[in-house]
Amino acid sequence: MAFTIYPFIVSSNTEKQNKVLMNHENIHLKQQKELLIILFYPLYFLNSFYLLIRYLSLKKCYSLNMFEVESYSYENDLSYLESRKKFTCFKNTKEIVEYKNNILKEKTNFSEKAMAIFSLSIIMFFLFIIIKELKYII
Ligand SMILES: [Zn+2]
Repeated sequence: MAFTIYPFIVSSNTEKQNKVLMNHENIHLKQQKELLIILFYPLYFLNSFYLLIRYLSLKKCYSLNMFEVESYSYENDLSYLESRKKFTCFKNTKEIVEYKNNILKEKTNFSEKAMAIFSLSIIMFFLFIIIKELKYII
């Protein structure tokens, strides 16, 4: 597992040898940069939150996140970043539509849905606390 917080890619040394994984993370770096870094994280969170409610699946809320969709659709194309158009994460290219359709084909079973509802209630609980506390700060 690797993740990217601009301008760093956090990963193990063995993962650094993995060209596909590094390409995936480098695509995230590009996305973060064009969203001025600070906009990337709330958009990532809001998009996943929406997908979690819509599909009740943790796997789909991650795999269908617009930023992951672009990275997964193009990670195998090692020269992708040389020709990438700006804001591709908001677009539906042929590769992106194909990737999304593959994910959407998978059925979500009952235990996955139960896990998703459990996760949603924890997120709602923390959002509730944050909103309550904000009243005192503002
Ligand atoms: Zn990713």
